[in-house]
Amino acid sequence: MNKLTKEQFYITQEGGTEKPFSGEYCNFFQPGLYLCICCEVPLFSSENKYDSGGGWPDFKNAINNKVITFIEDYSLSSKRIEVKCSNCDSHLGHVFNDGPPPDYKRY
Ligand SMILES: [Zn+2]
Repeated sequence: MNKLTKEQFYITQEGGTEKPFSGEYCNFFQPGLYLCICCEVPLFSSENKYDSGGGWPDFKNAINNKVITFIEDYSLSSKRIEVKCSNCDSHLGHVFNDGPPPDYKRY
C-alpha cells in the first residue's frame, strides 16, 4: 500500500477536513469511481457527484449504504453525522440534509 500524505493521514485517521476548494477532486467530473484512499474499496461514483459550490466534492449518495458507516458526531456545537469507510474505519467526511432531490443528502 502507498503511504498517505500528511494531509491524507490527518483527514482519514484523525477526522480532519481539508481547506475548501483545495481538494484534488473538487472540480473533477470525469466518469469513474472514488475509492477509499486507505483500503481502495469503491465508495462513491461519479454518477452521484455534483457541485454544491461549497468547496468540497459533493455526492448525492454512496455506491450503497453498506460501504459507509454513519456515526453521530458532537465535536461541534451542533450534531453532525460523520461518514466513515465500513471496511477500514477511515474518516470520509460528513453527510448533511441539504442536498438535491430526491434524497436531499449531501456527502
Ligand atoms: Zn477504507
